[in-house]
Amino acid sequence: MANIGIDLGTTNSLVAVVMGGKARCLLDEDGRAMLPSVVRYEAGGPVVGLKALEQAPQYPGTTFSSTKRFMGRAPADCTEDARIFRYRMDDSEPRFVRFLCEGHAPVTPVEVAAEVLKALKVRAVECLFGDPGGAVITVPAYFDDAQRQATKDAARLAGLDVLRLLNEPTAAAIAYGLDQRASGRFAVYDLGGGTFDVSILDLNEGIFQVLATAGDTHLGGDDFDRALAASVFPRFAADSDSDARTLMAAAEACKRALSGAPSADLLGHTVTREQFEGVIAPIVARTTAACTQALADAGLTAADVDAVVLVGGSTRVPYVRQHVAALFGRQPFADINPDEVVAIGAAMQADILTGSSQLSDDLLLLDVIPLSLGLEVMGGIVEKFIPRCSPIPISASQTFTTHADGQTGIDLHIVQGDRELARDNRSLGRFTLRGLPRLPAGIARIKVDFLVDADGILHVSAKEEFTGIETKIEVKPSYGLTEDEIEAMLEASIDNAETDVEDRMLIEAKVEAEGILHALDKALVMDRAMLDDAAFHRISRVAEALRESALTTNPADRKRITDLAHELDAISAPFAQARIERDLTLALSGRAADTVGAELGLNADGTRKTLAEATEVPHARS
Ligand code: AMP
Repeated sequence: MANIGIDLGTTNSLVAVVMGGKARCLLDEDGRAMLPSVVRYEAGGPVVGLKALEQAPQYPGTTFSSTKRFMGRAPADCTEDARIFRYRMDDSEPRFVRFLCEGHAPVTPVEVAAEVLKALKVRAVECLFGDPGGAVITVPAYFDDAQRQATKDAARLAGLDVLRLLNEPTAAAIAYGLDQRASGRFAVYDLGGGTFDVSILDLNEGIFQVLATAGDTHLGGDDFDRALAASVFPRFAADSDSDARTLMAAAEACKRALSGAPSADLLGHTVTREQFEGVIAPIVARTTAACTQALADAGLTAADVDAVVLVGGSTRVPYVRQHVAALFGRQPFADINPDEVVAIGAAMQADILTGSSQLSDDLLLLDVIPLSLGLEVMGGIVEKFIPRCSPIPISASQTFTTHADGQTGIDLHIVQGDRELARDNRSLGRFTLRGLPRLPAGIARIKVDFLVDADGILHVSAKEEFTGIETKIEVKPSYGLTEDEIEAMLEASIDNAETDVEDRMLIEAKVEAEGILHALDKALVMDRAMLDDAAFHRISRVAEALRESALTTNPADRKRITDLAHELDAISAPFAQARIERDLTLALSGRAADTVGAELGLNADGTRKTLAEATEVPHARS
């Protein structure tokens, strides 16, 4: 079973496959590769593609196009697009978009995309004489978690097995074989019918990373058509929608002709390429700012870019090509059909993922992690290291300290999920760092590193920085989790988000209170003599009240805990100050004051995060 690559586009979608060592787009019975991403809902079932597009004027209330703009977004974030595309959204659903559809239940952008994907799957079945294997589906580099998840949901609805989602610019780079280079930085300039984006990619050891992306979701070839029509017929005022459509179709045909000829006809008027270029120059100029922005965000200049790739039908316009060449100071790659290049790259990636690739021996892995990865800290709270949907490989590290005096071991509990408390997430593994030197609480510095490598394997290591004692663990985060389980976990994290946060905040307040009380108790044991009786009693009274209030399990009591903690902090400040000054003059004389924080085990943000004491504290004395 051959794997397939799918470009699920805003205007058009394509499916491609590697056959006989070459990637090619699969065609419909009329020989067309592009399937318009348009769906009409009818009693007899949905009509998809060119027919739905051509008949759209007759069925405005049941035809949906450009719905990719709404994927994974909340209605409140796309009212402007709904106005432009004249869709009425279902007001009763605030979480995701649902379009009202005449004579039919409301439809979601995910369902529309699923119909497009089903049509492409049918095409693949016909061309390949059987079911395809898995699919690589492309998404814009700027798609966020929700938009990517929505794309996966659409694929699942269409009965496709998603091997992975691939960024569109990465797919274009793969189509040109840029992944075969040892390393490089590439710009991908994608100008379609209604959207423009530019991405800066970095390739290193077979892994692409999107360094930056910029663009305009309302800029494209349609603007060329409108500007051309307006320049030839400045006084044109359409009497009907049909007149306006006729003019736009004529302008589009004229524009296409001008890509191959020095002049072309527009409803009886001759337009030269020079005239056309004058008309579109201000529109093309709008892409410059986005390119400059993306380069700046990537920390590069145009000279650092090793190759430029063109994507999207509008990059066929010679003036656009010249503009890009001037902008980046080099000729862009343009040999592959710019409409097909993304699908071709997706097919090549899908082929590589079969493991018996006809194209390459290298296993190119580009993926994102499905759920966040973190570590349980004191109080059962999760400290997130790597947020979900991060592209792999990825690493993150944080420094912790010990909770108890003389603590010689710590437990590290690695969890996967997006809930605030460890017990609500999936436990991935535990290990213990033993043999820590006996130190007062908060002095040891334990650096914990998380690394998810290109194979999706999580490596966690913990090292005590003063002694160099180190321990490591390797876990496979996605192993054993089905898509349904991932979905159920995400749903639970959304449903419980509010109470989770309250629980977490209560625990944080309690842990902080315990820390303050612990430090105060220690200080009083050593330096009670530095306080007069009145001050001692004042401090003790507040300390007892805080100790008492920190026993609560009710999130509503959090404010009392934090208020008392602040009060205790404030009234014991002169005592703490006096002790620090004495310590500084005595013990730390000659040392820089800013190292004191480090020695007290404070993180860079001034907070002190502590890890659980090892359940089995080793007896080793060091
Ligand atoms: P896409 O969204 O990538 O399918 O691009 C569609 C846009 O490309 C539309 O605005 C088309 O009018 C435009 N386009 C397609 N072919 C040509 C061509 N030969 N010359 C100029 N523009 C074209």
